Amino acid sequence: MTDDLRRELALLREFGFTHLDLSGATSGARATSPASVPSDPNPAADAGEVARAPLGPDTAAILEAPSLDELAVIAAPCMRCRLAKSRTQVVFGAGNPNADLMFIGEAPGRDEDLQGEPFVGRAGQLLTDIIRAMKLTRQQVYIANVIKCRPPENRNPEPDELDACRPYIRQQVEMIRPKVIVTLGKFGLNSLLEQAYPISSVRGSWLEYRGVKVMPTYHPAYLLRTPSAKKDVWNDMKKVMAELEIQF
Ligand code: SF4
Repeated sequence: MTDDLRRELALLREFGFTHLDLSGATSGARATSPASVPSDPNPAADAGEVARAPLGPDTAAILEAPSLDELAVIAAPCMRCRLAKSRTQVVFGAGNPNADLMFIGEAPGRDEDLQGEPFVGRAGQLLTDIIRAMKLTRQQVYIANVIKCRPPENRNPEPDELDACRPYIRQQVEMIRPKVIVTLGKFGLNSLLEQAYPISSVRGSWLEYRGVKVMPTYHPAYLLRTPSAKKDVWNDMKKVMAELEIQF
C-alpha cells in the first residue's frame, strides 16, 4: 500500500466511512455503495404556508452595503419575504470573510435557527467532518445558505422566497470573492445560478458563477439519509482540493 493510499484511507475514515471495498481499486480506495444514487435528492420536507411579509430592505440597500458586517446588520431585521414570520433569527453566514472556499447550502433548520449559525445540526456536523477531511477548518472557509430564515417545518423554499433572498448570497459572494464555491444540494446551486439543474446530472462537474468556479455536490442532510452517496461527495471534494492546491 502506498503512502498516498494510506493517507486517503485515513481521510475517508475521518469523513465517516467504516467499510471500504478495495477490490478492483486502481488509484485509491472505493467505499462500498449500491449501484445507483437516487436522482435529484432534496433534504427538506413539505409543510404549510405562512402569511406574506413583503417589506424591506430594498435590493439597492443590500447591493450598496459597504462590508460583510454591514450586510449582516441590514439582513438581521429583514422582512423581504414571508419567512420573516417563521424564524427565530436570520442566519446570515459564518467563517472567514477572505476564504478561498465557500460552501452554499439551502436554508437554516431548527438548530441553525436557534443558534444563529449555518450547519450546526447533524448535517452541519457531517459538513464539519467533510471540511476536516479536506484538511481545513470551519474557521478557514465561509458557510452560508441561499435562504437566511428557517422555513416552517423545514419545508422547501418557495420560488419567490428564493428570489427575495438571492441578493444577500450574491453580495456575500461578491464581497468574499472565493476561489471555489461548493454548492450543497439543488437549492444552493440553482438559486445562486438562477438555473434549474438536476443535481444528479451536474454533481461533480465544474460550473462557473461570475468568474468563480462552482462545484455542485449533495447536501449533507441527503448524505445522512443516503450514506452510499458519501463517496461521490468525497470525489467532488478531491477535485476542490486539487483546484485549491491542497495536498492529500
Ligand atoms: S429568507 Fe431572506 S429575504 Fe426572506 S425574510 Fe429571511 S433574510 Fe429576508
